[in-house]
Amino acid sequence: MSTQRTTVLIVGAGPTGLSAAISLVKQGFKDLIIVEETASRPEASRAMTIHAATLEALDFIGCAEALVKIGIKGKAMQLSDRKAPFMAAEFSCLAPYTKFPFVLLIPQTTTEEVLEAHLKELNVDILRPEKAVGLQRNSQGELEVSFESGKVITAQYVVGADGARSVIRQLTGVGFSDPDGTPPDERLAQMILADVTFSSPNPNLPTDAVHGTASAGKFFLTIPLPTSPDSDPVYRIGFNVPPSAGPPPSNPPTSYLQQYLDEQGPLHLSSDVSVNPIPIHISKTIWATRFRTHAAIAAKFLIRMGSSGESAGQGRGIALLVGDAAHIHAPAGGLGMNLGIRDAISLGPVLAAHATASTESLPEQDKVLEKHVAARHDRALSTIKLTKRIMAVASFLGAAKLLNINYWLLNLLFKVPFVRNQIAWNLSGLGNR
Ligand SMILES: Cc1cc2nc3c(=O)[nH]c(=O)nc-3n(C[C@H](O)[C@H](O)[C@H](O)COP(=O)(O)OP(=O)(O)OC[C@H]3O[C@@H](n4cnc5c(N)ncnc54)[C@H](O)[C@@H]3O)c2cc1C
Repeated sequence: MSTQRTTVLIVGAGPTGLSAAISLVKQGFKDLIIVEETASRPEASRAMTIHAATLEALDFIGCAEALVKIGIKGKAMQLSDRKAPFMAAEFSCLAPYTKFPFVLLIPQTTTEEVLEAHLKELNVDILRPEKAVGLQRNSQGELEVSFESGKVITAQYVVGADGARSVIRQLTGVGFSDPDGTPPDERLAQMILADVTFSSPNPNLPTDAVHGTASAGKFFLTIPLPTSPDSDPVYRIGFNVPPSAGPPPSNPPTSYLQQYLDEQGPLHLSSDVSVNPIPIHISKTIWATRFRTHAAIAAKFLIRMGSSGESAGQGRGIALLVGDAAHIHAPAGGLGMNLGIRDAISLGPVLAAHATASTESLPEQDKVLEKHVAARHDRALSTIKLTKRIMAVASFLGAAKLLNINYWLLNLLFKVPFVRNQIAWNLSGLGNR
């Protein structure tokens, strides 16, 4: 059995763990280890959007430029019913407040590649595959993390960046539940995501915007993906599967995607000649997955293990939760990875200061760390609230259209520039860094 010692152990090398590691090193803090259970990065690319506030945070750790070079500068989030545009929130309205007045459209796998390459340049290698399976506090007040391989790493701080099913969160016994105690809206809870190409170009399909179609409790998303100029344009599509249709297949085939595109997507993308004079088909499915959405937040983001003998809020030997380990919610607005990256980057300076504090200044640094963690908890709560609001509007839109209740009133509201700008502002995260 091998034992290693470090000051900070980061468990999980997803976008959050990688950002935390880079942020710490950028503070000049090098006594860290980052571990990852998988041998290589997964193919499936979940998050597609990096918003302005996150780009600013990534800029702070020197990673924004490389990402902006690769991604598509999305200019708007558009909403339509199946036939006609309804609303477009343009990100150009953010120009007075940020140097990134757009939403960057880029697959999560590419974001992780860029972050990992940056970390490597900083001479930090990810220890993989190493799966954390145990966590306890030793008699010196340090945390001991044990791994499936038999390895043990002793650390003063363990950063749980190990995703929604976080082992670190479970081993510390921290609860994880919906902050309002409400069950997910079943009409919108079952979702499919896929990356596809289409049989022919469609001038109505935006190449630089996120586009959503809402109809009678159903929605359908298209997002253009960066591709090389000589390859066919690739689009991320996403849609909900109503509960009445039963659970979707785990690897949805092209025929399944096509059926929902025809039933829920914009008519100009339909393969049905009776509604679309120039029918379009999904020509290739690159990957597809199903998932269920729900919201949850960890009861605390900072844990002092076995602290019964000590006064709370003092000293080292701390586990911290960041990213999906700390909070999850519906992918409405594409905010989840964004929040995690900002958790991680903002933690860097605070954690570095705590870890290097002298015994005399440690109580002061304890307060700073705890204030920081409380602020991140608030940010997560407001993001969860925002995603719930977006989901409520999505389901209302469909129902309103169906019953014709207030539909035109809402349409009118979306014509007000202030309302549209407010939507862009809320999505950007600039008011909720
Ligand atoms: C279908 C879908 C679509 C999404 N779309 C968007 C979007 O458009 N925009 C957006 O911002 N967000 C989106 N999200 C959310 C986004 O994918 C997550 O918020 C993001 O991946 C969280 O990053 P993370 O690093 O915290 O966790 P993860 O990405 O889950 O990374 C955790 C890492 O820890 C590793 N790990 C886990 N357990 C252990 C262990 N015991 N030991 C060692 N390593 C371990 C895992 O292998 C993994 O690499 C989406 C999510 C889903 C599911």
